[in-house]
Amino acid sequence: MVPLQMGRMCYSSSVSTTKLFIDGKFVESKSPEWLDIHNPATNEVIGRVPKATHEEMLAAVDSCSRAYHTWSETSILARQQIFLRYQQLIKDNIKELAKLITLEQGKTLADAEGDVFRGLQVVEHTCSITSLMLGETLPSITKDMDTYTFRMPIGVCAGIAPFNFPAMIPLWMFPMGMVCGNTYLLKPSERVPGCAMMLAKLLQDAGAPDGTLNIIHGQHDAVNFICDHPAIKAISFVGSNQAGEYIYERGSKNGKRVQSNMGAKNHGVVMPDANKENTLNQLVGAAFGAAGQRCMALSTAVLVGEARNWLPELVERAKGLRVNAGDQPGADVGPLISPQAKERVNSLIQSGVDEGAKVLLDGRNVKVKGYENGNFVGPTIVSNVTPDMKCYKEEIFGPVLVVLEADSLDDAIKIVNKNPYGNGTAIFTTNGAAARKYTHEVDVGQIGVNVPIPVPLPMFSFTGSRASFRGDTNFYGKQGIQFYTQIKTVTSQWKAEDASLKSPAVTMPT
Ligand code: NAD
Repeated sequence: MVPLQMGRMCYSSSVSTTKLFIDGKFVESKSPEWLDIHNPATNEVIGRVPKATHEEMLAAVDSCSRAYHTWSETSILARQQIFLRYQQLIKDNIKELAKLITLEQGKTLADAEGDVFRGLQVVEHTCSITSLMLGETLPSITKDMDTYTFRMPIGVCAGIAPFNFPAMIPLWMFPMGMVCGNTYLLKPSERVPGCAMMLAKLLQDAGAPDGTLNIIHGQHDAVNFICDHPAIKAISFVGSNQAGEYIYERGSKNGKRVQSNMGAKNHGVVMPDANKENTLNQLVGAAFGAAGQRCMALSTAVLVGEARNWLPELVERAKGLRVNAGDQPGADVGPLISPQAKERVNSLIQSGVDEGAKVLLDGRNVKVKGYENGNFVGPTIVSNVTPDMKCYKEEIFGPVLVVLEADSLDDAIKIVNKNPYGNGTAIFTTNGAAARKYTHEVDVGQIGVNVPIPVPLPMFSFTGSRASFRGDTNFYGKQGIQFYTQIKTVTSQWKAEDASLKSPAVTMPT
């Protein structure tokens, strides 16, 4: 069992410091600059995280570069064995990882286990690397000549993670990168660094050699360092559009591969023929689960035709959710990450009111007994929303469902396609033809048919599109392997001695 505070060192009775992970050691930063980590249910300071110094970041990337020489040459079977052990260690520690997530991020314990579990599935997928990394061959392209390809690692890769999935998203990153033979520099979200540290310890316990994974902490300086350091060949980013566009541009200018998963506004289109019971429950779960702090949350409902009459029942179901600290039994909706996030969500609800929308369920004044200082917003439903309103245009990232109405499926498709984001969407219907039309005509990367949060399993890839993604190769699955490898193509000729050329051939071979 790994201690809960792994990667942190207590310097007083109540507040611990998050360490850096450099060259296989958990080291205390010498930085003069530190940030507080809060429990979102109470706003108590539960730890501190350093902004790593330039020297510490250099030490981390140097460690990655040194380790790359041996790790990239380590047999693929040896790398596979490490990840086979790793997936078991994650399974053994899932409850401890979840507790740490709930403490730092606020989501409910059951949801935190789901966070770990969805990351674990990616680690399990890496265990089939011996098939995933196969190249191609074509024998006899001409006499005595064969062509074949190898997928090779690319070098030091880096990941920059957001706060909302402290386990899953780092696990989309370094296991995929490392199993391909790259070494990895991770910068977790400075708001929830604990889980990544525990994942690093488990990876070390699984046998990953020193230097194959390094972890630095910080904000803008750490991000700029990653974008600029010449040894880093690829950057995987997940987070907001503001940061993602910036990192995509700065990293690409420096010649790096960048995959950048960003914000979203996911529409759930409800057809009047849908299974009502199932659809309303799915909508409520997908809008308010994780307090709406999921990039695949269904934050916008589009009620088509008679489905608009289902609003009162939707409100009743949402009222039944229990708002509480994530570690309390029966909690459905935990707190938001920070007081600033709460304030932003509340002001976006108010902007809807100011622009003529109707708040059918208002979670702004929710009180949670025993957690009066937490960042809670209760489930909120805003109807009569139109596409020009601020609460529709901006990603709210809170437990708020905005509701639009459409007269037909065609109108609903127009609404979805006009929105700049293309992360996820769902249609609820019992009509196969409507579902097929929707999946074909909608310009969104991940589509659920009666599935509210269609996050693909890792044998597929996470395929957000338009304003939700920059880059051309997505996270995990086959595309993840492509992102973390480059192809070498070998053309070889072995001919018998008596078939050797008798004179130089100066024309282009055909
Ligand atoms: P964020 O952009 O604030 O932070 C993400 C990372 O970028 C952090 O490590 C942070 O230190 C760094 N960062 C923050 N601001 C920066 C800036 N201005 N310049 C450079 N670096 C910066 O995102 P967040 O609040 O942690 O996460 C929530 C966002 O992430 C939402 O928009 C959500 O939709 C998105 N998200 C997207 C996906 C996806 O796969 N599309 C998944 C999860 C979250």
